Amino acid sequence: MASPAPLPPAEADPGARLVLAEHLLACESAVACARAVVEWLARRHGAPAACVGPGDGPGASVCLASEGLTGAQQAALARAWDAPGSPLATFRTRPGARWLAPDALEGAAMPGGFFAVPLGRPGATAAALLMVGLPGPALPEDVAWVASSAGPHLARQLASDARAPRRPEPDRLLRRVINAVSDPVLLTDTDGTLLFANGRAEALLVAGPDASPGRTRAVELNQRLFRETLAQGGTSVHRREVPLVDPLEGMDLLFELVTTPVLAPDGPSVVVSVLRNLTDLGRATQALGESYRQLRATEREARSERHRLDRVLDSVADPIILTDPAGGMVMMNDPAERLFAWPQAGGTSGEGAADEATLRRVRANDALFASFLANLLGPVNAGVSRWKSQLTLDDPSTGSPVPMEAMANKVLGDGGELTGIVTVFHDRTEVLERARLLERVKEVSSELEARVQSATAELAEQNEKLRRQAIQLEQASAAKSQFLANMSHEFRTPLNAILGYTNMLLQGVSGEMTPPQRRNLTRIDSNGRHLLEVINEILDITRIEAGRMPLHLSDFGIPELLQEVMAEMDPIIARSKLTVETRLDEALPGVWSDRQKVKQIVLNLLSNALKFTHEGGVHIAAEYQNATGTVAISVKDTGIGIDVSNQEKIFEDFQQVDSSPTRAYGGTGLGLSICRRLAAMLGGRVSLQSAPGQGSTFTLHFPRRARRT
Ligand code: ADP
Repeated sequence: MASPAPLPPAEADPGARLVLAEHLLACESAVACARAVVEWLARRHGAPAACVGPGDGPGASVCLASEGLTGAQQAALARAWDAPGSPLATFRTRPGARWLAPDALEGAAMPGGFFAVPLGRPGATAAALLMVGLPGPALPEDVAWVASSAGPHLARQLASDARAPRRPEPDRLLRRVINAVSDPVLLTDTDGTLLFANGRAEALLVAGPDASPGRTRAVELNQRLFRETLAQGGTSVHRREVPLVDPLEGMDLLFELVTTPVLAPDGPSVVVSVLRNLTDLGRATQALGESYRQLRATEREARSERHRLDRVLDSVADPIILTDPAGGMVMMNDPAERLFAWPQAGGTSGEGAADEATLRRVRANDALFASFLANLLGPVNAGVSRWKSQLTLDDPSTGSPVPMEAMANKVLGDGGELTGIVTVFHDRTEVLERARLLERVKEVSSELEARVQSATAELAEQNEKLRRQAIQLEQASAAKSQFLANMSHEFRTPLNAILGYTNMLLQGVSGEMTPPQRRNLTRIDSNGRHLLEVINEILDITRIEAGRMPLHLSDFGIPELLQEVMAEMDPIIARSKLTVETRLDEALPGVWSDRQKVKQIVLNLLSNALKFTHEGGVHIAAEYQNATGTVAISVKDTGIGIDVSNQEKIFEDFQQVDSSPTRAYGGTGLGLSICRRLAAMLGGRVSLQSAPGQGSTFTLHFPRRARRT
């Protein structure tokens, strides 16, 4: 078991008595007990103090502990314990403390005198004497308390020490010497119980009762580690390492523990342990190891970097050569090797001629490269840092020329000295091929341009021709329209005269006619009317084409207009036996348009409907479409209908569904074409919905308010 921790300064702690009492209980020897008491009093009063007791055997009295006394004083006190006639010898047998004058004890005088207080069990002879250098005569209260508290305990310890073999206690000088040693030094018994520790060792292995919990834990750990290491030692001189913890900093420490058993001739064996701090040495070794590891890692990195560089260089498609300052090749990648390196030996004998040619080409390439490099070498070119030029090398295996661009760069050292030259070649075959292709593209494009120019000129000429033809056609059309208008007019006058006279004859102005005469004259009248109709329609078309049919816009109502149409067509409707109905939109507004033209269109559509319908009826409807602002007048019949293939055609001039000479229906084929033209003049159109056998619906769409064009 460890000895109790050093006492705290008594004056700094109000519970100092309690601390001393606890400390005394932990003391396992009379010496430790005496030292605790003496130190406590010396600190508390700043006075010298000592404890004298019996030694092993007669005349062996000792100064068990002392503070503030010289060695000679301690020896004198020890002698005075049982010297005949000495006051101390008598004091031992009488109870109560005595105060002695400064010179009362020869050789052990204390300036100012001192108290001698017997220590022991009450009523028994003092087991020891406590000496305290304080002025008398009254004994201070705490000295009396110490004597009464420590006395019985000390007596017990002295008795037990007398029974047990005394453990040697290093004397104070030795303790001082050991304390001065910079390494921790400990004295333990063979069980590892701490008998003595110098300051360094105490710092590591002893914690006082008021130590922080952290320090206490660290010290406990250290004690355990120390004891375990000590237990491995045996009885001979032993060295081994023991890891401890710095209780202050919490850092790991490494010590070398040297233990030496000391065999006392008159007592039990003790063990002297010296701890040598190896932490710094360990750290240095560790740092050295770390540096070495780093060095190895750096070396490995450098090696792998070199491999990587080699791989990168080889993966570059362009040849790269590294040369030394004298122009000697140091390193080259695979593509460069194919051009500049001698082929590996090992070809078969039959390939001799081919090898010869290959070598010759490699030699030629090397020579070209050397002369290229000469532009950077030598003192003359010291100021030139890079050189670029175009070389045509030979492909060693095929002999075909390889156009190259070579770019060489000087590599300079830290001191600016030339350390090497890196040359990178770039194959220009593709560039040249691209340039050739570009040239060809340019040629082709200029050819194309010339062709486009001539085609454009031709086109312009054709356009001009077409323009002239269009003018000629326009003039011809105008002439034709003029001619037709004139001719129609010229035809109409005599024809009207013919019809007039025919009518007079039929009415019997020139007397009664025989039935054959009347029949023939009726035919003349009918054909004349047809001819007049044709002429009128041609005249309408030519007038429209010649722009001689102006718009006459006015306000009018559709219902009235339709009434008029019905009235005019009434005889024909009556003859046809068909029903003709009219349905008008209730919200039908008045319109602003050319009334005559609208009427002409509706008349035409209605007469066609009556002509091409044999049974059923005709339905006329008019409605206003607000969204588009247009009026729609539709004429729907239940007649023969028109096939889709003919629905466009019938709006053209002189076109009929059946235009054969044997056709069943009369007509000119001009009615619908005139309707379409008139509708266009109104800003509208004529639409048709029809199918054979299902009747037809012709619809005129025109704006409610026409705009004069
Ligand atoms: P025309 O009636 O004088 O022959 P149109 O130009 O008015 O001339 O008509 C051209 C042709 O369109 C007619 O010959 C006829 O074949 C066809 N057609 C016109 N209206 C109708 C209709 N309502 N039903 C059937 N066919 C029609």
